[in-house]
Amino acid sequence: MTAQIINGKQIVAEYRDNIRREVEALTAAGTRPGLAVVIVGEDPASQIYVNNKAKACEQVGIYSEVHRLPEATTQDELVALIESLNRNAAVHGILVQSPLPGHINEEEVVDAIMPDKDVDCFHPVNVGNLAIGKPGMLPCTPAGVIEVLKYIGADIAGKHAVVVGRSNIVGKPMALLLLREHATVTICHSRTPDLAAVTRQADILVAAVGRANLIRAEHVKPGAVVIDVGMNRPEGGKLCGDVDFEAVKEVAGAITPVPGTVGPMTITMLLRNTLHAARRAAGAQAAV
Ligand code: NDP
Repeated sequence: MTAQIINGKQIVAEYRDNIRREVEALTAAGTRPGLAVVIVGEDPASQIYVNNKAKACEQVGIYSEVHRLPEATTQDELVALIESLNRNAAVHGILVQSPLPGHINEEEVVDAIMPDKDVDCFHPVNVGNLAIGKPGMLPCTPAGVIEVLKYIGADIAGKHAVVVGRSNIVGKPMALLLLREHATVTICHSRTPDLAAVTRQADILVAAVGRANLIRAEHVKPGAVVIDVGMNRPEGGKLCGDVDFEAVKEVAGAITPVPGTVGPMTITMLLRNTLHAARRAAGAQAAV
């Protein structure tokens, strides 16, 4: 049996439509949500991501500004820009595109972003809130994965979810969100000795590694939901995920294609976080 191929276009269009309506209402009430994106240097993939984020903002009516800084920008200059964006009332979300040039201390940059405007959910305050289950900013890629699972009607509570990858950006927060949805969660990483033995137990398998074709048919339990977060650009080849799509779709119950689902859902969650940040800011203003 061939897996259900998860239709990212449809999911993304529906979510963005709802966001657009909510942005319109908030704007009409006097607060237009605003996102500032900061990019340092000329990394071509980052340029594409930043342009896609600005385009998505435009699509739903969110104000956006892109700050393009030269590769030689100093730490102090970058932090000064973030501090000015923290004070800017038209900006409700701040995103600093990674990777940053080697001379920049990324941790210090993230710490400089006001937690209320940290729409990536990378600031330690937001990560802490996520870990203890307090409401607030949600990390974009993992939140997008949860929305995809809910959209296709996948049961999460009580299911065994296996996350491959333990990065601070994807793997760890993914595990936390699945736990919040009451899954039994296992995290695998590069030191997991027999990856297939673990992933074969998964009802929900999330691959977030960054290695083309790491997950093959023998890694997947028949009928499992397979979510491919990976974005790999092999030399001269086209963009692909971590999952051997053609082989795994013959085993899985449902699978996300790459590109098409997790990437655009990640941007959609960024829009949602910006909307929520603007709403909170408007509420705080009204309360003064
Ligand atoms: P990192 O490189 O930070 O983390 C990769 C993780 O994979 C690490 O935890 C590493 O383990 C683990 N790993 C590496 N090799 C293996 C292996 N052979 N078996 C099991 N685990 C392994 O990557 P990110 O988390 O930032 O990103 C992961 C992928 O997701 C990338 O392709 C990235 O481009 C993509 N991505 C996609 C997004 C989207 O919007 N679609 C957003 C963000 C990322 P260890 O910790 O032991 O080193």
